Amino acid sequence: MARNGTTKTYLWCDACRRSYAHADAPAGACPVCAGPTRELGRLAAIARGFMANELVASDLRTKHRQLVRLIWTRNGMGERYYKVLAPDLPYNRFEARVTELLMRGAEEGWVRFVLPAAPSDDAAAYRVEFDDDERFVRELEAIFTSAPAKG
Ligand SMILES: [Zn+2]
Repeated sequence: MARNGTTKTYLWCDACRRSYAHADAPAGACPVCAGPTRELGRLAAIARGFMANELVASDLRTKHRQLVRLIWTRNGMGERYYKVLAPDLPYNRFEARVTELLMRGAEEGWVRFVLPAAPSDDAAAYRVEFDDDERFVRELEAIFTSAPAKG
């Protein structure tokens, strides 16, 4: 396998059309969409990135998603949701799925991400707002069906 010293590989996500370093994709799950990834050689990963021809746009989308994830998981909130729901999946996949849900909610209009006009040290300036808290709870329950009964 170790030919020409090019043993370094990357993990490619078909859904996001981009590659990740192994360190960024624990257990081989895409850090952005939590989907499965395929191992690719370095050159193949670069070639695919060029073919996808969406590097700039998908980078913005990725950063946007990362920001959403940071907002809802900060101050241990991600871990708290995880403990309460006790879903049958690893934390990083849980985080990705809730992030997906929030982004879908924003698309559908029942979730709002509030951002300051300029980058700020005021953490409270970054927040998630729900038009309908119960909708969010229902959606969470629908996704994580192994969630324990509320109580
Ligand atoms: Zn992905």
